[in-house]
Amino acid sequence: MPISLPIADLGSTPTLLNGKLSTAWCAERAGDVYRAVGPTMEVALEAVKAAEVVEVKGHIRGSFGFDCSRCAEPAVLHIDEAFGHHFVGPGQLDAGEEVDEFDADPDVSEHDGVRIELDDLLVEVALLALPAVPLCDPDCKGLCPQCGTNLNRETCGCQPASLASPTWAALRDFKVN
Ligand SMILES: [Zn+2]
Ligand SMILES: [Zn+2]
Repeated sequence: MPISLPIADLGSTPTLLNGKLSTAWCAERAGDVYRAVGPTMEVALEAVKAAEVVEVKGHIRGSFGFDCSRCAEPAVLHIDEAFGHHFVGPGQLDAGEEVDEFDADPDVSEHDGVRIELDDLLVEVALLALPAVPLCDPDCKGLCPQCGTNLNRETCGCQPASLASPTWAALRDFKVN
């Protein structure tokens, strides 16, 4: 079910709406990094209309699985994002003076006078909360680049990477006659 608001139903008393968005749809739009945990994200919002301007605000919550970018272990990210958006009447963004304060504001767009469709806006809010390079923990130590040991769980006896680089290996192999 798309999350949408019929404009004729809105007024100065907040209209409350709870809805669900497909987590898989959102994960797909985030690229290959994330997978859905649970079928849906929960959306709770309220909308108020004053003259032609509709203000929508609320929260979106969901869970996404991913493999840590450093250690490759599976992990889960929970998002709980607040959002707010204004929709002005048809043609008002270009009209200039009356809605000057809204010009060039990314949180303002036009409605068509009939219905506000929120799915795309909400999935954008969720996508912004998903880091491009997610980590299982901000302090994840990752894998040893030489032996692949997960350094979060154990240590290995490998030399620090700088000593194992080709330059140093060449020096180590240098024999003095
Ligand atoms: Zn990790
Ligand atoms: Zn190692």
